Amino acid sequence: MSDTLFSKIITREIPADIVYEDDLCLAFRDINPQAPIHVLLIPKKPIPKLSEATADDHALLGHLLLKAKAVAEQLGLDQGFRVVINNGDDGGQTVFHLHLHILGGRFLAWPPG
Ligand code: 5GP
Repeated sequence: MSDTLFSKIITREIPADIVYEDDLCLAFRDINPQAPIHVLLIPKKPIPKLSEATADDHALLGHLLLKAKAVAEQLGLDQGFRVVINNGDDGGQTVFHLHLHILGGRFLAWPPG
């Protein structure tokens, strides 16, 4: 069970600019945006990182990808967007509650560096 600041955003103990919520997930704007639109989409279930997801999370992970698409549409990212999951220390993960970064609003170079 991870208890991170994202858990506190889910419970509203920490404020966030929430753009989408349903029974399974929450999306809010990143506090340090790396693009004009930078939203974090998190499951309400506190999975620390993708590599700790299990077969029990099959439907939840599918739900998150489809909601990433829906949130991108909602925010007008009709020219394209990027979805990123940082996993573990070498992956650059700093908050150990699984999250999808949804980035857009400008051209995003690849590789990101
Ligand atoms: P990671 O590096 O773990 O993939 O991404 C964590 C993200 O959480 C970072 O982009 C960081 O800016 C964002 N973040 C950290 N603390 C807060 C916070 O208190 N509120 C919001 N909205 N985003 C945060």
